[in-house]
Amino acid sequence: MKIHQVISRLREAGAKPVHEAVLLRMWSRALGPESGHGRPDAFFPARLRDVLPALREALAGLARIESRHPGQDGSERLLVRLADGQMVEAVLLPRGGLCVSTQVGCAVACRFCMTGRDGLQRQLGSAEIVAQVALARTLRPVRKVVFMGMGEPSHNLDNVMEAIALLGSHGAIGHKELVFSTVGDHRVFERLREGPVRPALALSLHTTKRALREQLLPNAAPIEPAELLELAEAYARDTGYPIQVQWTLLEGVNDGDDEIEALGRLLAGKYAVLNLIPFNRVEGLDYRRPGEDATAALSLALYRRGILTKLRDSAGQDVDGGCGQLRARAEGLRRPRRATIRLVPAPGDQAGEPAATDK
Ligand code: SF4
Repeated sequence: MKIHQVISRLREAGAKPVHEAVLLRMWSRALGPESGHGRPDAFFPARLRDVLPALREALAGLARIESRHPGQDGSERLLVRLADGQMVEAVLLPRGGLCVSTQVGCAVACRFCMTGRDGLQRQLGSAEIVAQVALARTLRPVRKVVFMGMGEPSHNLDNVMEAIALLGSHGAIGHKELVFSTVGDHRVFERLREGPVRPALALSLHTTKRALREQLLPNAAPIEPAELLELAEAYARDTGYPIQVQWTLLEGVNDGDDEIEALGRLLAGKYAVLNLIPFNRVEGLDYRRPGEDATAALSLALYRRGILTKLRDSAGQDVDGGCGQLRARAEGLRRPRRATIRLVPAPGDQAGEPAATDK
């Protein structure tokens, strides 16, 4: 379901803009039916009151909790069942954050991600995206929403933009607290500028090398990492929110001195923050998480090059690791597949996702 379809149903039942605004606010903020409006029967037209119970039930049915998985870091992973029985994951993050999914599955097929293993199952409607926020708000306050769960938001742009517009208005989430995470393409940065609400941007870069990026993220747009950063930074400067550059650290793949040198050069002077996210184990994949000492040394090396670097861990990694693993377990999708990347180091070339998610 999409938000404009919800609005159409309200209008067909006689809702005026003021009624729409109140109902969208109540839904997206998970406020009770009676909150703040005195007597609803005196506020809403009779025809609208007649359809409201069924509409509320339909909205509640868009996203229901299948299971809860508290982590030791204050986060909590939620397995969420959609109305058609499909499942996605959302993560309650410490300090009022929420990571939401935008697709069931994902077509980008990142080699280090469980969600990408089985391709795209379907898009989430904009109302299903907001429903994850409404659901989370029944559990705890949500002040920040990151679009870093299952799916690539730029592949479902109309729905994600519609959800962002609602969350950034009736949903009372600050615009810079809406974080659109993407592998990037030429179209997405322009579209983000056009919305009534312009979110902050997280760019999943993962390597400075185009060829390696095309192996790691096989279905991302084939763009030079340097160009991607330029496009993302132009958007970031327009909005006034720095780019969050996401870098999943894979031992022996993208943690070499060459990458650190190149990253230092690419990010020098950029309006950006680098989030280093050590890889979470994924059953059936060969990738390894760098050791803590090596990771700390990398972070320090970048920091000394003047790059604002944050070392992050995937939220709730103690409860079944990265994005997509809860769903995979629930749906019995654990089919072993070995990573296909075999990198041959060249001379001098070692390589061959708030709390954060590991997108
Ligand atoms: S990391 Fe993100 S973009 Fe890549 S496959 Fe997983 S969900 Fe898709």
